[in-house]
Amino acid sequence: MTARTSDIEKAAGVLRAGGLVALPTETVYGLGANAEDPIAVARIFQVKGRPPSHPLIVHIGGAEQLDDWVEDVPATARLLAERFWPGPLTLVLRRGRRVPLEATGGSETVAVRVPDHPVALALLSAFGGGVTAPSANRFGSVSPTTADHVRAELGDAVDFVLDGGPCEVGVESTIVDATAEIPSILRPGGVTREDLQAVLGFPLAVPTSSRVRVPGQHPSHYAPRARVVLVEPEKVVAEAELAQELGHQVGVFLPPSFAGAPVTVHAVVAVPGSMAAYARGLYGFLRELDQQGCDLIIASLPTEEGLGLAIANRLRRAAGPRPSSVPGLQQH
Ligand code: AMP
Ligand code: MG
Repeated sequence: MTARTSDIEKAAGVLRAGGLVALPTETVYGLGANAEDPIAVARIFQVKGRPPSHPLIVHIGGAEQLDDWVEDVPATARLLAERFWPGPLTLVLRRGRRVPLEATGGSETVAVRVPDHPVALALLSAFGGGVTAPSANRFGSVSPTTADHVRAELGDAVDFVLDGGPCEVGVESTIVDATAEIPSILRPGGVTREDLQAVLGFPLAVPTSSRVRVPGQHPSHYAPRARVVLVEPEKVVAEAELAQELGHQVGVFLPPSFAGAPVTVHAVVAVPGSMAAYARGLYGFLRELDQQGCDLIIASLPTEEGLGLAIANRLRRAAGPRPSSVPGLQQH
């Protein structure tokens, strides 16, 4: 979907005036500000309720602009930028002077990427600078993958919502620490580990934070209002029906192997067999089950290959322990 030229111009004007624009990318919708305007950047944290120590991603219009924003780019980082940009890969590199510390959470490194979305690229071109943007949702909750999700969650807190249709990838970018010649994955996402390895020619470790769950140390993220409980795929139906019998309003993520099976629960999402379709739909499914009034979501993890690695990472964090400050906490 392409936005009207007048909308792109309007959005660029809002950014120039220090305002906030929700913009479509191929991953999720972002809450964008002029990356070089510390006051506008500070407003992002305020609107999201995000701790100021959590750094943002600076979106730029092309790989050729990389050196305007970062310093000391290793050869491997350049290779990854050339191969995967525009695309759902974020590179963490040494911060250039143009990037204010407000955008990096005080860090001397900065996360940069070129989004693969015609509307985001048109905005970046019309604006002419970098746009720093986290996902356009309140801190800890489910990322938006349509303009309606953004409007429903942030409303008037955003100065302009640029509608570019539903996001194609549906989960956030893969974040790679590329400050050293041997890069490492910080967060799995839209570019798969296998694709990165094929270009680099050596194996990359899976981030341990996606595997280890220490209560209290990994507050929940990407979380719907309903509590999310992960079970083995073959136990999904039985656990969901039991919880429903115990009085919960249960939403179930029905694995493809159970397709069409009758399940007596409040709401059912048929999980797509293709990982690309699952990633595209994931956040919409979680929002839908909230809207249907579920208080408990029973799901299982997909095989952690390809996009399945990012999906499993988001589901684990959606199921993670919730600090009392996360809105929507419900004790069951
Ligand atoms: P979001 O756009 O909401 O997914 O948030 C941006 C993500 O990028 C967060 O998970 C940050 O931790 C990560 N990030 C941004 N900048 C850096 C950085 N300099 N070093 C490590 N991670 C970063
Ligand atoms: Mg986010």
